[in-house]
Amino acid sequence: MTFDYDAIVIGAGTSGMAAGIALKKADKSYVILDRKKEIGVPVRSTGAVSLEWVKRIGMPTDDSIVASKIRSMSFRTDTGKEISMSFDRPVGLVYDFTKYEKFLSTDYAGKLNIKLNTAVNSVSGNKVITDNEELTAKYIIMAAGPQSNLGRKMAKDEYLVAYEETRELPARSDHQMILWFSDSSPGGYFWDFADSKGTRKIGVCYYPLQPNQPRKVLAEFTERFPEVKGTPLHSMAHQIPLGAPVESVYSGNTMYVGDMVNAVLNTTAGGLQGAFWTGFSAGMAVAQDNPEVYQKKWDSEIKPWLMRHHNLHRKIHRDGVRSVGKYITLAKIMPKSMKKKVFGGL
Ligand SMILES: Cc1cc2nc3c(=O)[nH]c(=O)nc-3n(C[C@H](O)[C@H](O)[C@H](O)COP(=O)(O)OP(=O)(O)OC[C@H]3O[C@@H](n4cnc5c(N)ncnc54)[C@H](O)[C@@H]3O)c2cc1C
Repeated sequence: MTFDYDAIVIGAGTSGMAAGIALKKADKSYVILDRKKEIGVPVRSTGAVSLEWVKRIGMPTDDSIVASKIRSMSFRTDTGKEISMSFDRPVGLVYDFTKYEKFLSTDYAGKLNIKLNTAVNSVSGNKVITDNEELTAKYIIMAAGPQSNLGRKMAKDEYLVAYEETRELPARSDHQMILWFSDSSPGGYFWDFADSKGTRKIGVCYYPLQPNQPRKVLAEFTERFPEVKGTPLHSMAHQIPLGAPVESVYSGNTMYVGDMVNAVLNTTAGGLQGAFWTGFSAGMAVAQDNPEVYQKKWDSEIKPWLMRHHNLHRKIHRDGVRSVGKYITLAKIMPKSMKKKVFGGL
């Protein structure tokens, strides 16, 4: 049987474009389909990543796509516990998300073959059906993000709702990243991230177990902590899968990547690194004509990394802000060797 492409990738977010990068590098024929009108819009992410990990998995670190660098961070509870960490070099980056996605689409490996304004309605075997055409490929890479029409609907304790405002605020002199844990953000936290000059990113994420609107929850938090008060310039909201990573990442000719396999670090709700790593690995599996290559990478490296974060997240949040506070106190008094045991390898 002949196909239009070696692979069709559905979704041009981080995971889909990472798959495209691997496919392009391997000289495979592919197309990435996305319903959005423009790469990097709407903004889907604060864009904060660990510098060590992005270097390890080959994500871009180009200065032109970086909004700010993290050298100092603080983890707090809204009940007054705190631990801060400062470093003599950057340990994290906050991408300018739109520039970052555009960089992946045109600069990282050259221009990727992306068709925008193309919503996929269904997938059946080797066929992908869009609003106006039917395409075929030997392999399908599903990179459609959380709660897509092509994925599984998640229960309320399997994802966080997330809402962020970019506010006019001067750069802080103490930290470029603050996470506040609170019983009004169960399973998640409030955040304050350094952005480009003159703005900061203030947001919240939590399991939507109660019908509270994130915008209202963030407004109430702002009243309690006026240091994050500033004129909002723009906002964004989406969902973040926050559960255990899945067991199986492919079925027949179809591979699933990014948020679709819960490749999100549960402790920080960061999914960009997992999205890039899974997308690239799935693209490499197509290059080797064997989806099992991706499953092996998942089983041996990606899933164990995600599981460490998942298990720690469950322990830390077991008893709401009380248990988070206990871990903060522990982290402050623990000897280094013990810290490695409790928090090691993250
Ligand atoms: C408010 C917020 C803040 C966040 N902050 C961070 C952070 O600081 N650091 C971090 O690491 N992670 C963060 N995350 C998580 C991170 O953004 C996601 O985990 C990551 O973007 C997932 O990438 P993905 O490629 O799997 O999905 P997405 O980036 O969601 O891409 C999926 C793409 O598929 C397309 N699509 C969906 N369905 C269809 C269809 N039927 N047809 C065609 N196209 C379709 C969509 O248009 C979209 O472009 C944040 C998330 C949110 C919501």
